Amino acid sequence: MARSPARAVLAAMNGPGHRRLLNVFMAIVLAHWVEHLAQAYQIWVLNWPRPRARGALGAVFPWLVSSEWLHYGYALVMLVALVMLRPGFVGRARTWWTVALVIQFWHHIEHLLLLIQAQTGHAYFGRAVPTSILQLAFPRVELHLFYNSVVFLPMVLAVYLHLRPSAAESTAMRCTCAQPAERLRVAAPSAT
Ligand SMILES: [Zn+2]
Repeated sequence: MARSPARAVLAAMNGPGHRRLLNVFMAIVLAHWVEHLAQAYQIWVLNWPRPRARGALGAVFPWLVSSEWLHYGYALVMLVALVMLRPGFVGRARTWWTVALVIQFWHHIEHLLLLIQAQTGHAYFGRAVPTSILQLAFPRVELHLFYNSVVFLPMVLAVYLHLRPSAAESTAMRCTCAQPAERLRVAAPSAT
């Protein structure tokens, strides 16, 4: 039966393309961490006032942070990648990837609220600056270090398990993520 083009693309993303896309995605995740770690450094090592501590790209292009587009963009890209690359995960790896996806869904909602407030120029909850729901209970910088950690840890665990599947998980996988030795043998057959 013929598959729709969208299904074919998704199958390729979770089959032959899974390994490369996961690498690209992890690079994006690390670039996002650089922003938050740079911000932590600016606040706790350089003692910059918090409104000035905008992270790495934010230090060069302040509007990227003040408009909320930079962190909304990262949150959206991560959410979409967590959804689109999920079918390639099986077994225990799928479980932990889903945990990361659920937490990132909420994290993305928080950033959407911040983006809407920054774009409309109207802060919610009677605050002077854009404020998300859990920011009513926790300071923003610490809250987002927490958010990024609780998305990152299950994601890394999922990738670790994905690269080291059990025999049962291995037979269900459609990608090449767990078979570097296999591919090397195919690419370079022994001379004997
Ligand atoms: Zn894979």
